[in-house]
Amino acid sequence: MKKILLIATGGTIASKYTESGLSPQISSEELLSYIPAAKGFCHVDTIQPFNLDSTNVCSSQWLILAALIEKKYEYYDGFVICHGTDTMAYTAAALSYLIQNNRKPIVITGSQKPIDLEITDARANLLDSLRFASHERAHGVCIVFGGQVIAGTRAKKERSKSYNAFSSINYPPIAILQDTRIVFYIDDKDQATAPLAFYHSLNDRVFLLKLIPGCSGKILESLEPSCDAVIIESFGVGGLPNYGDNNFYRAVKRFVSSGKIIVMATQVTHEGSDMSIYQVGKLMKNEFQLPESYDMTLEATVAKTMWALAQSTNTEEFKSFFYKTINHDILFHL
Ligand code: ASP
Repeated sequence: MKKILLIATGGTIASKYTESGLSPQISSEELLSYIPAAKGFCHVDTIQPFNLDSTNVCSSQWLILAALIEKKYEYYDGFVICHGTDTMAYTAAALSYLIQNNRKPIVITGSQKPIDLEITDARANLLDSLRFASHERAHGVCIVFGGQVIAGTRAKKERSKSYNAFSSINYPPIAILQDTRIVFYIDDKDQATAPLAFYHSLNDRVFLLKLIPGCSGKILESLEPSCDAVIIESFGVGGLPNYGDNNFYRAVKRFVSSGKIIVMATQVTHEGSDMSIYQVGKLMKNEFQLPESYDMTLEATVAKTMWALAQSTNTEEFKSFFYKTINHDILFHL
């Protein structure tokens, strides 16, 4: 029987109604008690490093989770993390960069309804996650939710209330779960040959600037003192506006000449960026050699920027980390 470590971190799945709103209250052992069927196919130990609404989860907790998994890695066949759905895609992406080439499954799950309700998605998601983590072919960081297994770098929360909250963006799901059956769409465990690597640092001096029509380049200047990298969510395949004042041009020039990073991304969820298509993108990209997210999700772009910044000392090094394909995160770049 496979040995799985269940890591409870809070979220709706572990929440109860209180006068001040839903908040995480349910312990890891109690979570497990709601899915007695798991005893039929795996042995589960539990641990609870923190108990938070995932709104309060950030890079500190990502590092705690990676360090915990590193410490316990040799003792378990797989890991299941119960987590709030709101920032789950960020945590899944961050763990994909902090724990690379892992041949054991690290599954992240949660739910839209608490586990102690009569009608809930929590019990199915948790049971599915343990079942997937117990499968011989499962490996890498992924999200199991609503019957889908999504690569940790490809998930996005697209629905705030429905049970099928997560989608796999610009990439097929790794597998689907139908009752007790697991159907793999991507079965690449044998192709993983690089050695397991744990990373221990992230640089979270990163900001995401979402453009709106009329947005001033001066905003970018104001971010300089507090950021080492800014991801600009521009329009369509990508470009930067010039409202006749050259503000963005000047701000980008200043930002990158101080050795800081600007990553170009898009507000459009599907199909990704390509700054080389329009003049509004191409001129800026060519002049400043701006890295861009291409088909990566925004969540992966944020986490990868934090990881690559922490591993590099200059822009060229940053780009070599940023464009490396990790846990299926990027298929295409120029
Ligand atoms: N606010 C909750 C959280 O992210 C939502 C959820 O878990 O579904 O922790």
